[in-house]
Amino acid sequence: MLIPHKRLAEFSDSLYTALMQIVRAQVLGMCMGVRRAEEKAKKAAGRASELSKPVFTYGPLIHNPQAVQALETLGVRVLEPEAFERGELDEQAKNSIVVIRAHGAPPEALLRLESLGVEVIDATCPRVVKSQKKAASLIEKGYSLAIAGDRSHGEVTGILGYAPGAVVVQNAGEAKALAKEWERKPIALIAQTTIKKSEYDAIAAEFEVYCPSFLAFDTLCPATAERQKALKKMAEKVEALVVVGGKNSANTQRLFMAAKETGKPAWHIETALELPKAIFTYRSVGLTAGASTPDSVVDDVEATLMKGEPDGHAS
Ligand code: SF4
Repeated sequence: MLIPHKRLAEFSDSLYTALMQIVRAQVLGMCMGVRRAEEKAKKAAGRASELSKPVFTYGPLIHNPQAVQALETLGVRVLEPEAFERGELDEQAKNSIVVIRAHGAPPEALLRLESLGVEVIDATCPRVVKSQKKAASLIEKGYSLAIAGDRSHGEVTGILGYAPGAVVVQNAGEAKALAKEWERKPIALIAQTTIKKSEYDAIAAEFEVYCPSFLAFDTLCPATAERQKALKKMAEKVEALVVVGGKNSANTQRLFMAAKETGKPAWHIETALELPKAIFTYRSVGLTAGASTPDSVVDDVEATLMKGEPDGHAS
């Protein structure tokens, strides 16, 4: 029997699909803190609808556009922290419900929200709360405190609110300058939970040189390193890699960098629609996702890989 050309193409595509093995990394996707914050935001949405109140998250809850959109469909909007801190959003926030994201928020912001009659639902990640408390107690004890991290990151601005006088150092160069300036002071160092261990170590090494008795607290969260480790293990078993997560998610970007470092062809996509055509030519594909990627997006990518090329695929 003659098989028409189109049917033959379909047949060979499905043969590819049938042969494709998809391996999920052992640790992937949402971390404990983000998952917890998302659950709290969903519950807050239900409560807000019962009480006919507006509901916000203090800044985007998750660095993932799909997750933020899903919350928007439940009525959860974003209250921009910078504008709120400048006093521009008081009318909007008044008598609403506000969910504090996993990164936390400065105490002044929480007090202002409460003074506006806002019901505050605190979804700060317990690991971040630990850093906030540690920072506050070190300042209280008279230490000069350095925070290794990104000074524009919400977690860092939140911690700074608990530790007046603390200084953020973003790299070894900044650490060196500060260590020289603080040479004779009692010094302590903590870290943003999500910075790279190598960056933290380079910063700590500079303090070690100038202030050998400084106190270092490694407050890094293992979530990022665990995902990278699982990715490397999985990469040994597959021909190509797909990293799923927001393009604005720092931990997903790092995961993608780790994927490229394996030497295997790798793609960073936000949704199944971005799966490139080329991925369907591999017999085995490894799948991982950043700490802010919802399960549903990962499942969708896996289902599309199993099914075949999506509509409107990227090239
Ligand atoms: S990465 Fe770690 S510290 Fe940050 S929200 Fe997730 S579990 Fe918490």
